[in-house]
Amino acid sequence: MNREFSAGGIVFNQAGKVLLTQSSSKLTWGFPKGNIEKGEKGADAALREVREEAGVVAEIVQKIGDSKYVYTHPESKEKVFKIVALFLMDYISGDIVDHDWEVEEVVWLEPEQALKQLSFSQDKTLLKKALEIKSGAK
Ligand code: ATP
Repeated sequence: MNREFSAGGIVFNQAGKVLLTQSSSKLTWGFPKGNIEKGEKGADAALREVREEAGVVAEIVQKIGDSKYVYTHPESKEKVFKIVALFLMDYISGDIVDHDWEVEEVVWLEPEQALKQLSFSQDKTLLKKALEIKSGAK
């Protein structure tokens, strides 16, 4: 099975809101993320994708965990095993109006709203973990 390695961020602003992106192709809601380039570190890819996709500069607090799933590639029809490394991040600067065309919409949401809006259960679990880390529970 082909493998893909991506990285992304669960970004919080100073008001405690979390950044979600909606994919242009599927209209699903998730976190800004994208492929790790050759020779690039996961953390650097995550920061770059947050900047490119969501228009926001952030800093990494710590790694949260990996999201793992299998999907069928739309062109080759082959199955892909994908691992997405997700990092807890704090917002530094920038504006979501500068987001990439690859994402339909970018929003800052209260965590409770974000938990409802996320399309995939693994992302909900990772957001809960991020909130626990932020509250000092872990
Ligand atoms: P990117 O370049 O940001 O990694 P992409 O569109 O190439 O984006 P995915 O977002 O991983 O790749 O989407 C590939 C397929 O996997 C889609 O069908 C999507 O709906 C599905 N998918 C995305 N995230 C998850 C997840 N957390 N759990 C299960 N399936 C997912």
